[in-house]
Amino acid sequence: MTPLPKEEVQRLAQKLDPEAYRVTQKAGTEPPFCGGLLTEKGKGIFVCVVCGLPLYRSEHKFESGTGWPSFYQEFDPDHVSRVPDHSYGMVRTEIRCARCGAHLGHVFDDGPAPTRMRHCLNSAALKFIPEGTPLPPESRPVDVEVAYFAGGCFWSVEHWFQLGPGVIDVVSGYMQGHVPNPTYEQVCTGTTGHAESVKVVFDPNRISYRRLLEAFFVIHDPTQAGGQGPDIGHQYRSGIWYANEKQKREAEAFLAEKRLDPKYQKRPIVTELEAAGPFYPAENYHQDYIERTGRMCHGRNPWQ
Ligand SMILES: [Zn+2]
Repeated sequence: MTPLPKEEVQRLAQKLDPEAYRVTQKAGTEPPFCGGLLTEKGKGIFVCVVCGLPLYRSEHKFESGTGWPSFYQEFDPDHVSRVPDHSYGMVRTEIRCARCGAHLGHVFDDGPAPTRMRHCLNSAALKFIPEGTPLPPESRPVDVEVAYFAGGCFWSVEHWFQLGPGVIDVVSGYMQGHVPNPTYEQVCTGTTGHAESVKVVFDPNRISYRRLLEAFFVIHDPTQAGGQGPDIGHQYRSGIWYANEKQKREAEAFLAEKRLDPKYQKRPIVTELEAAGPFYPAENYHQDYIERTGRMCHGRNPWQ
């Protein structure tokens, strides 16, 4: 399970009601026998109130007598993370949503068979989706697709894509050159043919390739030839490196559409479109550079 970026969790948390916010973001506990889902007997799936990840199933719910909704098993062990909790002078195990970090409750080893576990939940941390109701897109199993873009210095391209809803991971690297496993110093000489590129791992159920293309054109200037902003050189060229035929067709249609846009009449689009070659991840010190250093280079937020 890839955790959501901090900014995305903050954005989602703003939509919560005060009680759900207190419980999930401040590790609050609701009073016993008060939660709305305690007596929920229907068939269905309980998802994270913050990010929608499926967390528990109705068939694993049991009457514990504690006053909090209780389950003897999670939807998927990867969806619920466990963290030691030493608050209030007790040794307990806190449970959190593995995707967004929401506080859910605690897990104890005094539950019924077959697991003998008791997941003690706050109703406010969950949302019930009755059987027969389609799961919202954010609750569906994660599908993974990969897209590649080059738009100048990869630090900021990586940063802006990372904030996209439905973007799972972004990695900075080198592509479209003729030297295997290039180093940053080699790429900087501009002689290896590589472009500083990013690999965007995304869930196509939550964000489309088309939306990524749109974002790409906001993040960088597709009309600047031979570099981007102050970074000049072949390694900073603008490029869409398609990963499959479907992406190729969508990117062609996108570029054809944009070329007709009056905005690109005076300064034509120079973005290259090529089949993706091997992706070589950049050195570790280039990854998450802006998150780590707080330094910004170029580009605009495409998600506003
Ligand atoms: Zn969550």
